[in-house]
Parts: sequence; C-alpha cells; structure tokens
Amino acid sequence: MTPAGARRADVRCAGGRIAEIGTDLEPRGEPVLDVGGALVFPGILDPHLHFALVAAPHRTADDFASGSAAGLAGGVTTFLDFAHQHVGESLTAALEARLEEAARSRADYSLHLIVTDVSAGQLGELPALTRRGFTSAKVYTTYRAAGFYCDDDTLLRLMEAAAAAGWIVMVHCENDAIVEGARQRLLREGRVGFAYHAQSRPVIAEVEAVQRVLLFARATGCAVYPVHLSAGASVRLVAAARAEGTRVVGETCPQFLVADDSVYATDRAARFIHTPPLRSKQDQEQLWQALREGGLQTVASDHCGYTLRQRTDYSDLTRVAPGIPGTETLFPLLYTYGVRAGRLEVSDLARLCCENPARTFGLFPRKGTVLEGADGDLVVYDPSAHGTIDDRSVRSAAGYSPYHGMAVAGRVAATVLRGEVAYDGTDVTVPAGHGRLIPRAPVGRAMLP
Ligand SMILES: [Zn+2]
Repeated sequence: MTPAGARRADVRCAGGRIAEIGTDLEPRGEPVLDVGGALVFPGILDPHLHFALVAAPHRTADDFASGSAAGLAGGVTTFLDFAHQHVGESLTAALEARLEEAARSRADYSLHLIVTDVSAGQLGELPALTRRGFTSAKVYTTYRAAGFYCDDDTLLRLMEAAAAAGWIVMVHCENDAIVEGARQRLLREGRVGFAYHAQSRPVIAEVEAVQRVLLFARATGCAVYPVHLSAGASVRLVAAARAEGTRVVGETCPQFLVADDSVYATDRAARFIHTPPLRSKQDQEQLWQALREGGLQTVASDHCGYTLRQRTDYSDLTRVAPGIPGTETLFPLLYTYGVRAGRLEVSDLARLCCENPARTFGLFPRKGTVLEGADGDLVVYDPSAHGTIDDRSVRSAAGYSPYHGMAVAGRVAATVLRGEVAYDGTDVTVPAGHGRLIPRAPVGRAMLP
C-alpha cells in the first residue's frame, strides 16, 4: 500500500529506511522476507494509548515493554502515550519522568503532554518543548477526582498558546457536571453495577463538550483532536466544523465500531468498562460511515491494560478504573469488520491507521507511509488466515481481550520496524528498550488530514 494506491512490488530497506521500491529487485546480501500473497501496509501508528497508567489505587498491568510487545504483534510500529502534568508541576518535569519509563519500549514512540494547570507560567515552556520534538497536548474536560480535569479558562489559554506554537490539542470530551450528576443519582439509587455504565455517562455529555471545544478551536485558530468519539451526533459536529475550515481531526476506537451498549445487560459487561461507554447500534453505523466518507480521520486503540480481575473483584462502577486493552487487535478488527464487511476499502485502512495519524502528530512522511526515504516500518498482513480472538493468546499483560470469541479475518504475519523484523508472526523479536523516541514537527495547516 503506497500513497498512490496498491501495487505489487519489492521493498528494499537499508540503514533503517525504505531505500527502494520496485519490481524484481535483486537482493544484495540482505535477509529476504518473501511475503507473496500478503498485503504490506505502512507500520500502524496507534496515536492514543496508556501503558503503565496509574489511577490510584489502580495501576495497569501493562508497562511499556509488555504493551509495546502487544502492539508489535498487532502491527503497531509507533505509538503515542502520555506524560501527565500534576497541578503545580512544570510540563518539562512531567515529561522527563515519563520519558524514563517509556525508554523500555520495544516499538518507536513519542508522548503527548497532559495539561492540567498553566497558572505558574507553564505555557512559556511550549517553544522549548517544540524544539525537542513534542508538539501535542491533551486535556480532559472531566475526571476531577482523578486529577486530570482541566477547566475551560485553562483550556482556552492553552489553545491560544498551542496555536502560536504549532501544537495540536487533544481533548477528552465529556461535560463534567453532566457525568457527575448522572453518577451521583445512580449512586443514591444504589445502581452501581456494570449494567448502568452507559447511563452513568450519557451521550449529551460528550456532544456538549465536543461543541464547546470546536467553538474554542474556531476562536483561537488552534488545531484540536477530540479523542474516542463514540456518537453519531459528535461526528456530525466535527464534520460540519471541518467543512467550515475549523482545524479539527476526529478519532474513534474499535470498541465503538464492533460492540454496542446492549453488552451492558450481559455477563460481558465487565469487558467494556471504558469511557465514554458503548453507544447504540445506530451510532456504530454512523461511525463506520464517517470513517468511510471522511467525517472521521483516525482510529486509535485507547489501550489501557487493566486485568479483568481488577474489575470483577469489585463489580461496582464507582470503584473500578475504566479502560480496556486493544492495541494488539486494532488492525485485525478494522480489517475484518471494516474491509471484509464491505464498509471500508483496503486503502482506507492505510489512511486511517497510518498516514492520517502520522500527519496529525508531526510524524509524516518519516512514519505512516511506504515511500522511499521513510522509516522501514511495514506490516505484513496475510488475508487468507482466519482465527478467533482468545483471552489465552493475547500478549498484553491485561491477560484478556474484550473481543474474546470474535472471529477475525487475516493475521499479522510479520512486523518490520526500521528495516528489521520485530515480530515474526509467532514471537516479538526485539528487546525492551529497542524503540526510539521520534521527534515530531509542529502541526502545519497543510499537513493535517
Ligand atoms: Zn485514553
């Protein structure tokens, strides 16, 4: 899959980069990977996930080494995680601490800065961080108790500074008062089981926050990236804003594409405790349509590897940390339920999972494309294979997959990172620490998808 479409070709890697694309290339002593019959995509870029996440008293089972191994087995050669700024802290200090943890990665990576507080001059750090290759922030419009919440004034000031520095601002969009109100009412009524998860975070909370963030984007000229959009109504707002010239890139996740809120009435509910929650079948079809027609630009896993035990030991929404594993199954699910189901073209996958995330986060054309000069990051996908996702065979330390029992068409037969096999179809073959921190460029208007 090249930017010009699909073609049958050989790819030569040298010095970690793609040196040559052509037919009948002669080996010059390099190892040869014969992938006849398979599809070769650019390495998958998972632009939103959480390894080694601490939300006290919980900590995800995945660290950077195990999480990135799961990703490589799913074709993910580059991922973007987060550095969480605590109130009062400098952005640079938050970043340094997290970079130490991330150095254990097997795949290439960078970090987004989670911003919670700009009251002590932190926005003045943006130019120096840009020079170091960090060009994106993330804010949450909710999660006060967990220490993630960013108020509207802080968000607006961040967006003004981000627009000047060439940063893009990712936003977890849920109106805090609406979700807190819904949660408190359910709590008073004793409705705290997983069956109430969707009710505890209603659609209107997301839609209101998306609308507010788009208004701020228009007012400041800042590029924004609403994460994990779950509802058709949110997608329509994003599409309308894009049509008016607002700089916005919209993301959704596999869970919203292959599951719906009827799950919460079943014994599989614990597998889908993430925020926002699953929505209706109708929302699901509207998300697929937006991916196909360009209303949404990227798909991220939002991988967050808690174990199932960390959930089922409580069976109480108010005491569990939300988040599900998924970086390993991101691409196979999109291939199966997108391409094979007739909802997406193969070229859509390369656009949604490779080129668009790379463009959005300043990694293009080094990442996200099969082009001479790009990093030698490739995914070999064998479309003739078929299998079933199984808790027992996942690589994530979470030890389960929400999608246990679901059929998948095709499989990742190999993952190549900077010209070297990093996953051979059976084993991840690169050690912890093999991944590199990749510097990112500011987000130019022309570069955004
Ligand atoms: Zn997330």
